[in-house]
Amino acid sequence: MKKQELAYCGLDCAECPVFIATATDDEELRQKTAKEWSKLYAAQLAEYAGKNELEPEDMNCEGCHSEGDHFIGCMYCPIRKCGQDKKITTCAGCNEYGICDMLNGFFTLHQHAKENLDRMRM
Ligand code: SF4
Ligand code: SF4
Repeated sequence: MKKQELAYCGLDCAECPVFIATATDDEELRQKTAKEWSKLYAAQLAEYAGKNELEPEDMNCEGCHSEGDHFIGCMYCPIRKCGQDKKITTCAGCNEYGICDMLNGFFTLHQHAKENLDRMRM
């Protein structure tokens, strides 16, 4: 079983297709994910990265907490930056958990991220 590597937002990086494509150097998975995520994250891409379309070469990431490569969307992710500024490991450790609009907005698209962080808070 892969080790769970939770991003600040609660996504499990070990399950992320970009992380897997990077770890296994899977070009087909990079191409497939670039196409899917160009649609899924169109608004965020335009806002944070100034581009509309992802290319396979954009699909490299070694995980939210790593010192290595980051996917462009996660590199400029405001949740990640906020967690780093607060010097916490994930948003589960934040005293604004539950009332944070930024995180709650993200959870509407990623329910499993909420479940991961809720589990950490139990
Ligand atoms: S930080 Fe990287 S590995 Fe983690 S969810 Fe974002 S793109 Fe995937
Ligand atoms: S304020 Fe929100 S985004 Fe920032 S660390 Fe707390 S829960 Fe996460």
